[in-house]
Amino acid sequence: MVMNLDKCLGCHTCSITCKNAWTSRPGTEYMYFNNVETRPGVGYPRDWEDQDRWLGGWELRDNGDLRLRGGNRAVRLLKLFYNPEQPEMGDYFEPWTYDYETLTSSGRTEHQPVARPRSLLTGERVEIEWGPNWDDDLAGTQIARQDPNLGGVRPNAPEADGLDAGEADPDATGESIRLDMHDLFMKYLPRTCNHCLNPACVAACPSGAIYKREEDGVVLISQDACRGWRACVPACPYKKVFFNWETGKSEKCTFCYPRLESGMPSVCAETCVGRLRYMGVLLYDMDKVEAAAKTSDPTQIWRSMLDVIADPNDPEVVSAAREGGVPQAWVDAAQDSPVYRLVKQWGLALPLHAEYRTLPMVWYVPPMSPILSRLEARDKLAEADEMRIPVDYLASLFAAGDPEPVRRIIDRLVAVRMHMRARELGDPEPDCDLSPETLDDIYRLLAIARYEERFNIPTAPVSDRDEALAAQREAGFCASATCAKGGFAS
Ligand code: SF4
Ligand code: SF4
Repeated sequence: MVMNLDKCLGCHTCSITCKNAWTSRPGTEYMYFNNVETRPGVGYPRDWEDQDRWLGGWELRDNGDLRLRGGNRAVRLLKLFYNPEQPEMGDYFEPWTYDYETLTSSGRTEHQPVARPRSLLTGERVEIEWGPNWDDDLAGTQIARQDPNLGGVRPNAPEADGLDAGEADPDATGESIRLDMHDLFMKYLPRTCNHCLNPACVAACPSGAIYKREEDGVVLISQDACRGWRACVPACPYKKVFFNWETGKSEKCTFCYPRLESGMPSVCAETCVGRLRYMGVLLYDMDKVEAAAKTSDPTQIWRSMLDVIADPNDPEVVSAAREGGVPQAWVDAAQDSPVYRLVKQWGLALPLHAEYRTLPMVWYVPPMSPILSRLEARDKLAEADEMRIPVDYLASLFAAGDPEPVRRIIDRLVAVRMHMRARELGDPEPDCDLSPETLDDIYRLLAIARYEERFNIPTAPVSDRDEALAAQREAGFCASATCAKGGFAS
């Protein structure tokens, strides 16, 4: 999946449709497989990026080995019964409802009856002090200041703040200046499980209950095999595995695999109001995954990931795929994949926090909107560094702190806009490393693509589909959200 952050409205439709489809059962009240965070902010669960606290993801050891940050097998076994890195309900939020009954059953009183909040866990009255989107739209910039990605934002140049050189406050950081109301920046970051190529959740599970599907790479939890050890929860650095306190098993985003098998996008992608999500096939070389995860320089991991992704138009790749049993329809879809174009062909997207070394397979086109007014005012290619969203901030999210790849993408996105101005208004063509035809194609896909251009998802081979359905029936699960059995539980 690729998400174009420029177009996210922060409407949360994706989160709600996902919740209705997958986590509207007892024990899942606090779960949002898909959530949308306002950035800067601390996210959901709170401070999920603080890997010094959660020990999520992988670390590269001095001897070149890759190890889960949560420790080796022995250490992890010792933590089975008490794991201090386990998030608590309060890190997400305590789910609540309201005493609606009092509104309709109250007798005549001097004051209007009030529906007070009650915990969905205990039924007791609660004071609501945190929620899944408490800092939505920068509610309380004090919370935004706790965003760890602000740490890498360099101070503004004195002249940018209207000061003479030498007048700059030595203690000022870009963060403190840019969070002032007149120069505020914020963006939305929709997040879901990344269905990683090197998933830490899979490696951490002592029961072997989590697996990456061979046919499409979707990472799933077998509800039969899960023993509720919860080792996967802290191990996922994105905190996208959740523990169902009712069933005693872990659950996560399924990428809506029953929909994928029928050639449909996930619910979050289908219902996205901003039409910013793209889904398609990437062929990749399994043998290169380990080396990519072991890339010594964290800022280069995303480049190594590009090496893992194979060119679907290369005849050698096509014949290897066919020999490996990849159906022709999948090869065709890979050759016409919007995700391949955005990620590798045009180099417009980056993965979130690749330094966690799980090799996430949800990539993001960084946002650039606020640059446009400067661009129009100056009638020239704006510099990425003039954006109101600091490049350093985006680099911390998407390139392990290296601003260069973010700058390159922003330059290309600006070039697309300049090219469209040139075409419509006769302005000069931008100086860009992409041809005018490619800029046209990028504009089409990012701005006005139709449904079938955004989603190119081949159906599962009929035999696989029948097998999957039979297994689901046998297990007693039903894909229908309204089914009495409550739908798939993972
Ligand atoms: S993002 Fe998903 S696949 Fe990756 S480690 Fe977390 S739960 Fe596993
Ligand atoms: S539905 Fe789309 S536009 Fe709305 S919050 Fe989700 S990702 Fe953003």
